[in-house]
Amino acid sequence: MALDAKIPAGPISQKWDRHRFELKLVNPANKRKFDIIVVGTGLAGGSASATLAELGYNVKTFCVQDSPRRAHSIAAQGGINAAKNYPNDGDSIWRLFYDTVKGGDFRAREANVYRLAQVSNDIIDQCVAQGIPFARDYGGLLANRSFGGAQVSRTFYARGQTGQQLLLGAYSALMRQVSAGKVQMFPRREMLDVVVVNGHAKGITVRNLINGELERHAADAVVLCTGGYGNVFFLSTNAMASNVSAAFRAYKRGAFFANPCYTQIHPTCIPVHGTYQSKLTLMSESLRNDGRVWVPRNSGDKRPPQQIPESERDYYLERKYPSFGNLVPRDVASRNAKEQCDLGKGVGETGLAVFLDFADAIKRDGRDIIEKKYGNLFQMYEKITADNPYQTPMMIYPAIHYTMGGLWVDYNLMSTLPGLFVLGEANFSDHGANRLGASALMQGLADGYFVLPYTIGGYLAGTPKAAVTTNHPAFEKSEKQVAERIARMLAINGKRTVDDFHKTLGRIMWDFCGMARTNEGLAMAQRMIQELREEFWHNVKVPGQGGDFNQSLERAGRVADFLEFAELMVIDALERQESCGGHFNERFQTEDNEALRDDDNFCHVAAWEFTGERQPPAFHKEPLSFEHVQLSQRSYK
Ligand SMILES: Cc1cc2nc3c(=O)[nH]c(=O)nc-3n(C[C@H](O)[C@H](O)[C@H](O)COP(=O)(O)OP(=O)(O)OC[C@H]3O[C@@H](n4cnc5c(N)ncnc54)[C@H](O)[C@@H]3O)c2cc1C
Repeated sequence: MALDAKIPAGPISQKWDRHRFELKLVNPANKRKFDIIVVGTGLAGGSASATLAELGYNVKTFCVQDSPRRAHSIAAQGGINAAKNYPNDGDSIWRLFYDTVKGGDFRAREANVYRLAQVSNDIIDQCVAQGIPFARDYGGLLANRSFGGAQVSRTFYARGQTGQQLLLGAYSALMRQVSAGKVQMFPRREMLDVVVVNGHAKGITVRNLINGELERHAADAVVLCTGGYGNVFFLSTNAMASNVSAAFRAYKRGAFFANPCYTQIHPTCIPVHGTYQSKLTLMSESLRNDGRVWVPRNSGDKRPPQQIPESERDYYLERKYPSFGNLVPRDVASRNAKEQCDLGKGVGETGLAVFLDFADAIKRDGRDIIEKKYGNLFQMYEKITADNPYQTPMMIYPAIHYTMGGLWVDYNLMSTLPGLFVLGEANFSDHGANRLGASALMQGLADGYFVLPYTIGGYLAGTPKAAVTTNHPAFEKSEKQVAERIARMLAINGKRTVDDFHKTLGRIMWDFCGMARTNEGLAMAQRMIQELREEFWHNVKVPGQGGDFNQSLERAGRVADFLEFAELMVIDALERQESCGGHFNERFQTEDNEALRDDDNFCHVAAWEFTGERQPPAFHKEPLSFEHVQLSQRSYK
């Protein structure tokens, strides 16, 4: 199957305008005749549901949490990018576009990224109108700070709680539509299958997580906004409920999975501190505006930081990348932290940490200013580590944080399964091989508020309306398959807990498909995953019943999907014989240990098609062309 990204013709700056004009419209009175299912209530799903309902569609919205406002988006700390250029420091739509394409190591689609930069400014206007309390400067305009991979300040923020405030905005808009009767809200429901009728997505099968009942829901189109799959690594900064299941089940029904090996390792997380840990905590990238990263100049130096004089410290990011300094992109900062630790210069008990030091900033600006900017992050750090970062440097280390891979979508955000749209972190669309900080919130809200509402209309208006009800045999078959899988899992009654399997899988993924990869390690990981998966289906212990509230069962289903999906990640990493962004294959590096791309052979999106249980997936390629940003070796020096 040839992948058609449906990129509109014409100059890049006019593509989106022109496309909106050319898309078919659903007339306002007809919108109420269409039902749309939205799965997920994070920034992507919340904004999409609210906007679609406001337009007049009948929306059914689903999430696994007890309230839509508990979606993982609430955890986002640092901010959201937009090209408003309020600080007058040289920003523009073109610069945001350029930075994002370069930041993604030239593995994203230019047209999508340009549109993202274009609508970024609308997002800020919309959020301000909703009352989001963005930080302001002395003149009353919205304040900005810097994030990695940019030399301008374009990140809008609400202290270290930007995601929370943005989500409350989207949630309010959503609840307005719930109260208007245009959105039917289904919390505590887990989507376990997409139902396909005559080649189109026409509904979903969900499990009611409170009473265990399986439910069928039909619609004219299905929108997945189910977030990222970073938890395949077990330890990550993602919420515990983040999973791949919805996307993976859609993959099994015909949606291609794009670039699954692209994962983001965030350089500033609180280091792992024990084997019983189930979660890692992010220290926002915004901290690198003022914090300076360093290690002792001499390996093995275990003195407390205050006893190490300036002359014996190595501010390695400032030394190696004088232009961007501590604000190099995440993949670069992470690899450098690992390199320093591999050289024996890591700090702390494990040697797997570097310092993030605010002493200079506090001396320069005063503690009050630093507290105003980052107070909640400092407090969180102190609560977890019992160290006071106003007095001693933070210790940080890279951790799994975000996934750039996701379901393949065209310019309309539609997957290869007609009628199935994918938004936010769940799709692969805009970030290439490395996402710049503060651009996930931008993308989720762009997709939900400003892209899907147009493109889904084009699909609905251009597709003959088929009245499908949940009595259709496809729903019956889907429900039967879901029920059988649950029953099979409960019947195993083995000896190992779900978490134990998940932990082992996470270790395999971190060791062999994490920050640095080798072909030998990946091949070994593939075998280990297959063996672990085999054992899971014979030896997992899932207590309790299916027809009941059962969190072990929920987790078992998600881990079973991770065990299959992990192999797809490894296969993808093995196929991509180059290094780019977060995918670092040790065989392909420059003399300076930077990622070395192979544009002749790998300037493409890898999209994988499910071909059957225990069958290798089929590989498809979407070639990428760069007409506006010249392909070059990334440099942040
Ligand atoms: C700690 C942290 C800080 C971050 N800070 C920033 C930041 O400052 N700036 C930035 O740009 N990005 C940041 N990010 C990234 C950003 O928060 C996420 O990429 C983004 O919020 C994802 O939004 P989403 O709407 O795509 O998905 P999510 O917010 O993950 O929402 C997923 C939704 O899908 C639902 N769901 C999932 N599976 C199912 C299923 N099977 N059935 C039913 N419902 C399901 C969930 O219930 C949830 O409602 C941060 C990430 C982390 C982890």
